[in-house]
Amino acid sequence: MFPPKTNFICQQIDAELAAGRRDQVVTRFPPEPNGYLHIGHIKSIALNFGVAEQYGGQCILRFDDTNPLKEDAEFAAAIKEDVRWLGYAAPRVTYASDYFAQLYDCAVTLIKKNLAYVDRQSPAEIRCQRGTLTAPGEPSRDRDRAIADNLDLFARMRRGEFADGAMVLRAKIDMAAPNLNLRDPVLYRIRRQPHQRSGDAWNIYPLYDFAHGQCDALEGVTHSLCTMEFEDHRALYEWFLDALELPQQPRQIEFSRLNVSHTVLSKRLLAHLVERGAVDGWDDPRMPTIRGLRRRGVSPAALRRFVASVGVTRSENCVDLAALENCLREELAARAPRAMAVLNPLKVVLENYPAAKTETIEAPNHPQDASFGRRRITLSRELYIERDDFMDDPPKKFFRLKPGGEVRLRYAFVIKCTEVRRDACGAPVELRCEYDPATRAGAAPAGRKVKGIIHWVNAADALPAEVRLYDRLFKTARPRAAATAESLAELRAQLNPASLVVCAHARLEAGLANAAPTARYQFERRGYFCLDGRYNDGAAADKLVFNRIVALRDSWAKADRRAPSFSATS
Ligand code: ATP
Ligand code: MG
Repeated sequence: MFPPKTNFICQQIDAELAAGRRDQVVTRFPPEPNGYLHIGHIKSIALNFGVAEQYGGQCILRFDDTNPLKEDAEFAAAIKEDVRWLGYAAPRVTYASDYFAQLYDCAVTLIKKNLAYVDRQSPAEIRCQRGTLTAPGEPSRDRDRAIADNLDLFARMRRGEFADGAMVLRAKIDMAAPNLNLRDPVLYRIRRQPHQRSGDAWNIYPLYDFAHGQCDALEGVTHSLCTMEFEDHRALYEWFLDALELPQQPRQIEFSRLNVSHTVLSKRLLAHLVERGAVDGWDDPRMPTIRGLRRRGVSPAALRRFVASVGVTRSENCVDLAALENCLREELAARAPRAMAVLNPLKVVLENYPAAKTETIEAPNHPQDASFGRRRITLSRELYIERDDFMDDPPKKFFRLKPGGEVRLRYAFVIKCTEVRRDACGAPVELRCEYDPATRAGAAPAGRKVKGIIHWVNAADALPAEVRLYDRLFKTARPRAAATAESLAELRAQLNPASLVVCAHARLEAGLANAAPTARYQFERRGYFCLDGRYNDGAAADKLVFNRIVALRDSWAKADRRAPSFSATS
């Protein structure tokens, strides 16, 4: 169960339930539909849905659509689908805009209680009067306007009688409060803009701080779990609830954001990379978005396990991308069937192998787990091996192929390189080899040791495919950027130029022709791979494109190689 009962959030909830202050738990996940969800959001989703589930309650998916300028129905639809894909079912999907009428009434209540006023000062003047952490603010000259006049102005704001920015509605709290959020915050502003859900019903829109807590209360949310940057807003959240005397008193509890190294988790910055064409859309497999991770082949279960492993605390942290990669490998090592794929092929001709012959070799689908069964692979005179498994003049510990050297073909024979054919520049284009028929399927070669084992595919029936290898999106561990053009340019300069390597001429073991769209494989010695949904989408499939989900860690690859996996029939 996530989060564990020992987590500080569960402990607070337990205490409230024990004291009889509550009899149920309702949480909400409140995304703003202005971009796609990223891995940081998964932590919030897992926590909000997890807490609700722990207590037999429910988690509401509520879109924070208070800003008519930035939001988009396409994003809202994508967010719903992403939450579902992650494995969470929201019993209720709501929108802050569903409550615009109630929020308006709340504002009127505050005016009537002399706890809110219309301010005709410019935004610059309001900012100037706010004071600093050490100096108190100054009251607005409109602060003492009569209640009736405030009610009249607010009603006219709503009717659209004033231009955008002409005035705002502010709470009347305390211009000398040490917490700056309590210095008469703005509640409503004029935006004579249609809204994608409420149409042109409104010319004024509530600000996040005012909308959020009231929506929580109106929906019966009991625990409003949010990230640390809202800690200083909690006093305001509680002030509204007290002043409005709403029947429900939800409680805000903060936790720290998830940060992951070598990427950015900010919709604003991710949107910038998409707009600049630095990546191939929001679902680029290098993106930390749910869409990107999904297209890359990461499973929902692995993502849920990852955020659970990170835990929930209140301290600022940055998780190394390697931790996510390890989490993916752990899952895939046990679950992914093995296959052979040559990413950068070099042709091998077995000179002493009969031209007309093809034989079948049996290989285990998983070297450590017999329940995966076995498959048949073909071998004939012409094969492909990996270009970097051959070296003309290798260093000492190179156990692969060299001129005159021997190597074992995985599950098959020992071969010896007898001749290297080259192009005009001297680069090898074909190896002529001899195979040792006595070494079939793991049989030891007579009188000599052959250390290396390499993977290969049969040239006659191997499938042509494109294989894409991904690496971290940024070279630097903690890329960050402010909103300035220079800062964004600096961010782009930190992108990793090698984050995508395309192997356009890969050759795959023939059995992969039947790969299911979501099946994940280990391509021996190369990592874990999955078909790219964008190119393999039913009728639109024009070529096989595999994405590397994650590379192998060296020790894993070695463990696989050591495993007794050879046996034979033909
Ligand atoms: P961004 O900066 O990416 O736009 P945001 O907080 O503005 O993030 P929202 O759509 O408002 O995005 O977020 C919805 C919920 O997800 C909020 O409760 C927010 O606190 C939470 N959230 C966003 N990013 C993270 C993160 N990195 N780790 C944990 N929770 C997050
Ligand atoms: Mg936000």
